[in-house]
Amino acid sequence: MTQIEKNKVVSIHYTGTLEDGTVFDSSEGKEPLEFIFGVGQIIPGLEEGIDGLKVGEKKKIENISPDKAYGPKLEEAMQEVPKSQLPEDLDVQVGMQLAAQGPQGPIPVVIAEIKEESVVVDFNHPLAGKTLTFEVEVIALRDADQSELDHGHVHGEDGHHPEH
Ligand code: ZN
Repeated sequence: MTQIEKNKVVSIHYTGTLEDGTVFDSSEGKEPLEFIFGVGQIIPGLEEGIDGLKVGEKKKIENISPDKAYGPKLEEAMQEVPKSQLPEDLDVQVGMQLAAQGPQGPIPVVIAEIKEESVVVDFNHPLAGKTLTFEVEVIALRDADQSELDHGHVHGEDGHHPEH
């Protein structure tokens, strides 16, 4: 019987929750998440948790620590930005989410602190430092083909992939 192992293309439905039960992400109502197992496409804690599961199996993977998820919150990812560099009409508030321009497109950042002349912007991943729980259901499994393994990602049924 086929089970989840290295170089399988895995499709799962999943719901991710924080320690207080808040859902931060879910595939509910969407296409299942599809990825190659064992190549680091998903967080290590989730990969370890679903290892060996078969199609149709469900599992709750609880309390994945930050080091097996999105890493710790880094102090150096907190940056002070002069207020003069923000849009003038912006009413900044702590906790407000903004999009900063990154090399590969906009990245979400959060206003962590407001000072007299500047604001402290948190560039950490929104899930950095968080302990996560995932409920997953395995929808499908197949062997990855050679071009998918070469590229490190899943290709569509027609071999098309939009990334490159
Ligand atoms: Zn590709």
